[in-house]
Amino acid sequence: MATILLVEDEVNVSSFIKKGLEEENYTVEAAYDGATGLNLALNKEFNLIILDIILPNLNGIEVCTIIRDKIGFNIPIIMLTALGSTDEIVKGLEAGADDYLIKPFHFKELLARVNANLRRQLISDDVKSLKFSDVIMDIESKTVTRAGKEINLTSKEYRLLYYFLMNPKKVLSRYDILDNVWDINFDMGTNLVDVYVNYLRNKIEKDFPTKLIHTVIGMGYILKEE
Ligand code: CA
Repeated sequence: MATILLVEDEVNVSSFIKKGLEEENYTVEAAYDGATGLNLALNKEFNLIILDIILPNLNGIEVCTIIRDKIGFNIPIIMLTALGSTDEIVKGLEAGADDYLIKPFHFKELLARVNANLRRQLISDDVKSLKFSDVIMDIESKTVTRAGKEINLTSKEYRLLYYFLMNPKKVLSRYDILDNVWDINFDMGTNLVDVYVNYLRNKIEKDFPTKLIHTVIGMGYILKEE
């Protein structure tokens, strides 16, 4: 069964989450400050991390950034954030979190998100590589090449490209992209998607003769040739 790292400084919240997850047969290791959580994340194997944002010494955003930098983004991270803090959510997602939950939350919702994130990881573990035109994404080594040239992507750019490669020749709306790449299912009123599509285009198209990601005016984006 999956092992989960829980980084949460409020003892009551931590023990409530730990107890609930253990009842679902998950193994949970708790850390009560950012530095301890980071140290565990870097030195032990976990299947998923639940990370509070406001923590002693290192905050959740810093911990998440370092984890993504040092061990990549194979491991799903769910952030816990205070009510109504859209800025925090965006910062967390940009630091490489896969999902977030706003406090206070129902345990049922946390459990659903834990299960969904673990399931998604299992699905992606089955596929070894994705290919479209001359772009190849190697899922195991997390590398992307175009025409044999290695392209360095950030974790979000990688997730975005992954979503395009899983849905070639289909118009993807900004809403679909936000929902699938950022797990945001409401209109945040930001141009996050457009910004990241442009980052991605710069990396996979700039030095190559053909475009792959096309804008469909009023609808979204499509991955296609020509
Ligand atoms: Ca806290």
